[in-house]
Amino acid sequence: MTGGPVTVAGVTVEPGERRDIAPTISESYLGDRTTLPMAVLNGVEDGPRAFVTAAVHGDELNGIATCRQLLDALDPSQLAGVVVIVPIVNVPGVQIGSRYLPDRRDLNRSFPGSHTGSMAARIARIVCDEVIDDSDVGIDLHTAANTRTNTPQVRIVEDDADAGALAVVFGAPFVLPSRLREGSLRAIAHDRGVPVLTFEGGAPRRFDDDAIDVARRGALQVFAHLGMIDDAPPPASSEPMLLNESRWLRAERGGILELLCSAGELVRAGDPLWSTVSPLGEERASVTADEDAYVVGATTLPLVQPGQAILHVALPGDRLVVEDDPSDEEDDDLEDVVDD
Ligand SMILES: [Zn+2]
Repeated sequence: MTGGPVTVAGVTVEPGERRDIAPTISESYLGDRTTLPMAVLNGVEDGPRAFVTAAVHGDELNGIATCRQLLDALDPSQLAGVVVIVPIVNVPGVQIGSRYLPDRRDLNRSFPGSHTGSMAARIARIVCDEVIDDSDVGIDLHTAANTRTNTPQVRIVEDDADAGALAVVFGAPFVLPSRLREGSLRAIAHDRGVPVLTFEGGAPRRFDDDAIDVARRGALQVFAHLGMIDDAPPPASSEPMLLNESRWLRAERGGILELLCSAGELVRAGDPLWSTVSPLGEERASVTADEDAYVVGATTLPLVQPGQAILHVALPGDRLVVEDDPSDEEDDDLEDVVDD
């Protein structure tokens, strides 16, 4: 069945066409028009509508590169359904290299927003109205927060079966249930019945080729699973690990940090995790694992003080198996900053 025209932010896109549009969000401090660039790909056949968003946090850059690669890979003349890609949601944040808007608001706590509110509220509102509404699925690309890095993982709401199934298809090494945070893109989409996969991979302010590649493969796997494209590259992992509860392990002593385990590793009870050494070379603490756990995130700081978060670990759950190849068928306190 042929898909019909779609209209996004007042621009109509015909079947088989890609249109790059830039609706006005607000104005800068200089009074210039601030826009939200996005690409709308309308397929030649009817199908689901999907969105990919990145850089909701303005220092989380990996998703920008993933979006560009997805735009290279997707051809509206070979597409069933509609894909809307927003490579930079937090435009002002990216411009100043900050997680937050220039007024320190967290865009991912500002949904659903309003047309008359702050810059964050206005961006959130346009994303809600033009990108999230009417979508069947969304992928929101993040990295760890400042001074941290994340092993590539997909975060979903535990009771969302649709998102859970798609998280397996995505094929990141880990799937981590994570509660919805009020005002987040994922929470507002969930309220509107749109399952969203939050991808976390790598560190802020840099491109991590591995995380970018996991996300690119994952998004294409999801599109292929939904019948939107015919072929997708293999997923990064054919057996994602569904993790159980996660927690941060914190430093007990200050000093120079030496990590003794690596991202993605399964550490066993008794394995060394890290040590801290004084600048004069005196060992201050050696920390070992008290239970088996996967390392899903870590600090990138070389020096630590007591109480600082060092490792994000999650208890092993079930090994999930991807079925047949689908192509055949919030807060200013750093210690409390969460990634998504
Ligand atoms: Zn983020």
